[in-house]
Amino acid sequence: MQRMSLPPAPSAWTHRFAALGPTFYTKWQPTPLPAPYWVGASLTLARALGLCPHWLHGEHALQVFSGNAVLDGMRPLASVYSGHQFGHWAGQLGDGRALLLGELASATGPLEVQLKGAGRTPYSRSGDGRAVLRSSIREFLCSEAMHALGVPSSRALCVTGSHAPVQREEVETAAVLTRVAPSFIRFGHFEHFAHRGQHDALKALADFVLEHFYPECRDQTGNPYANLLLAVSLRSAALVAQWQALGFCHGVLNTDNMSILGLTVDYGPFQFMDAFNPGHICNHSDERGRYAWQRQPAVVHWNLLCLGQALLPLIGRTELALAALESYPTQFAAAFEQRFAAKLGLTAALPQDAKRIDTLLQLLAQDAVDFSIFWRRLSHAAAGFAAPSASLASASAAIAPVRELFRHTDAFDAWAQDWRDRLQRQSGFDAGATTARMLATNPQLVLRNHLGEMAIERARAGDFSALQRLQTALEHPFTARPGEQDLADFAPTWAAQIQISCSS
Ligand code: AMP
Ligand code: MG
Repeated sequence: MQRMSLPPAPSAWTHRFAALGPTFYTKWQPTPLPAPYWVGASLTLARALGLCPHWLHGEHALQVFSGNAVLDGMRPLASVYSGHQFGHWAGQLGDGRALLLGELASATGPLEVQLKGAGRTPYSRSGDGRAVLRSSIREFLCSEAMHALGVPSSRALCVTGSHAPVQREEVETAAVLTRVAPSFIRFGHFEHFAHRGQHDALKALADFVLEHFYPECRDQTGNPYANLLLAVSLRSAALVAQWQALGFCHGVLNTDNMSILGLTVDYGPFQFMDAFNPGHICNHSDERGRYAWQRQPAVVHWNLLCLGQALLPLIGRTELALAALESYPTQFAAAFEQRFAAKLGLTAALPQDAKRIDTLLQLLAQDAVDFSIFWRRLSHAAAGFAAPSASLASASAAIAPVRELFRHTDAFDAWAQDWRDRLQRQSGFDAGATTARMLATNPQLVLRNHLGEMAIERARAGDFSALQRLQTALEHPFTARPGEQDLADFAPTWAAQIQISCSS
């Protein structure tokens, strides 16, 4: 392993997680990746980390982010965690192919930098420690796309590839993703130490999270660990409401994929739905649909109960832990209604809006309407409702592009009439401003599976132009730009045949 110190490479690495001590990880060096090449990089994130874009494009950075060189100041380690997978206790898991390099400063505080796919670790179990190009590109694109959509998420700095073969269902090639988050601590980290009865370690971990990420929970009255559980529950409820509002399915909501910070992490078989189907299962390995779109809110609650169980030795009383979690369904429902009210152009959700949203989702499901296109067209329609007295003809012309998405047009007409009345009854209703608000919450562009697949296919052939074009477009998901209309269009029919599994 080469060691190098290269201006203007990052120099000031910090190591807050490492300071927790060896109970929490194993120091471990990346396994070199033969003849790496650049696949993609996020310059906005590079700048946020104080990295020089020229350096990031260069040969030294290529070696560093492929695991072939370790910069002065980096202290690579693999952390240990456990977790529940598909509802069952899975025992010890851990960073089987991820290595934390340390933290770099940013305007929002220190950010952890991890390599994913840099070889086997003591936690690899039967895995090869590698990641394939396909899944690394998907995680890279989606992390940055989620950030641009305003969804809390780990981010992605860059991807490098190699022609080194990796065996999955078929032989693929290796890649290394460099990802970034304030912390990669998962619910499973807590479960690990609770399950083993290592209560000192459990407390040290919880105190670490309180100190760095939830100081308010320590300062409030009451049990700080119960406060932490409540705070994580609130963040998770808000996160899953955002997923639902975007038609996003995570795909593998195991407790080891649940961030203690309420971030979207571990992008695997995720999907933004094309045709809306509440029972949609994006993960081909999820035979029973545990992680179907409509189950995500309940599954996240279940995961929070696992976290509550793990924190119990610190909280002390079961009633306190349960009390911290009992508000989750109401918190989620409120966040969900607020998100969907905003999607509908409403400035505040009223009690009757829950029914309005529910009816709409049933209509969308009944006619398998394209989720993103529906919301975008609906946003434009509002501009045609200029005044309560606006002629019926102009209102129906405005709604026509939305209406044509439905087969059951009578049912849609009734819903649309009610929605229009509701909008126009809002005090100070302004059609143009309503559309502008809706366009800022209903994206024109999401990372549909087929877009990812097309970029991956080209990248496999050594052509990264489609990937770059998609990455750039995903950086401004709410603004339609000339020349990008094809990306915001309906999915081609072959998209329904794409099968994405846990294999990555
Ligand atoms: P995931 O389903 O990607 O969240 O992974 C679950 C667990 O399996 C985590 O502990 C991963 O580190 C580990 N894992 C997944 N793929 C591999 C691999 N190819 N090699 C080693 N460990 C892996
Ligand atoms: Mg995982």
